[in-house]
Amino acid sequence: MNFGKKSVFPPVGACIYCGRSDRQLTIEHIVPEGIGGNWMLPEASCRDCAATINRRIEQPFMRTIYGPLRLILETRSKRPKKRRPERLTLQISDSARKWSTAEVPVTYYPKSAIFPRFLSRPSAITGEVGANLTEIPHFLYKKDSFKRYGDRVGASQISVSRRMNITIVMLQLGKIAHCFAVSQLGYGGFRPVLPDIIRGALPDARITEFVGGSSLRGSLINRSDHFIVLATNGEAFAAHICLFAGLGAPVYEVLVGYR
Ligand SMILES: [Zn+2]
Repeated sequence: MNFGKKSVFPPVGACIYCGRSDRQLTIEHIVPEGIGGNWMLPEASCRDCAATINRRIEQPFMRTIYGPLRLILETRSKRPKKRRPERLTLQISDSARKWSTAEVPVTYYPKSAIFPRFLSRPSAITGEVGANLTEIPHFLYKKDSFKRYGDRVGASQISVSRRMNITIVMLQLGKIAHCFAVSQLGYGGFRPVLPDIIRGALPDARITEFVGGSSLRGSLINRSDHFIVLATNGEAFAAHICLFAGLGAPVYEVLVGYR
């Protein structure tokens, strides 16, 4: 599915995380608004769950993992513009391989992101417990912007380091997958496995059972935006998610629940 166009699904009428319907319900963005997600589920989360998920998952995900990419792509942010940094830090090496730190205007910063890559499908699907804990950070950049900046400063190599919290990435993917499944199947249209993990009622580590690599290849998806499909084998439902497909990002598979 193409996330380029704004789309609003029918109101849910209950919190898709805790199930309560006797409280004021707020809108849920399936993909975070800050990275250009504009598919919405109205009346889909209570204030308590929305606040918890924002603090535990979305804020750390956006800030520490995609922060620079988000700035570069000039996607919307809830924070006022004046608080955005104008420069970002990276390491550059000259032709003598001497490394130094450079402060780079956001405009020239390489379009980069670091994604975990999982070597197997979710263990809840394969039955191989622990197998999907193997992951490789995957560094991506747009060659054009990299070369343009490198040429400009006379750098032969550029290194971008960023904090990566794999569990936060998995929780965010779980949240996206759960929201998307509700949008496609309806609330009550499947038996979900993720809500208690997403809202923190179960240990965060449980998410590792349900998130893994997909057999779909991101390179086959010729899009610059985000991509999600929901698949089923008749019993289980799984979402295949690729964020920033245009950067060649990996595709993830997330088990969302059962029929
Ligand atoms: Zn709730």
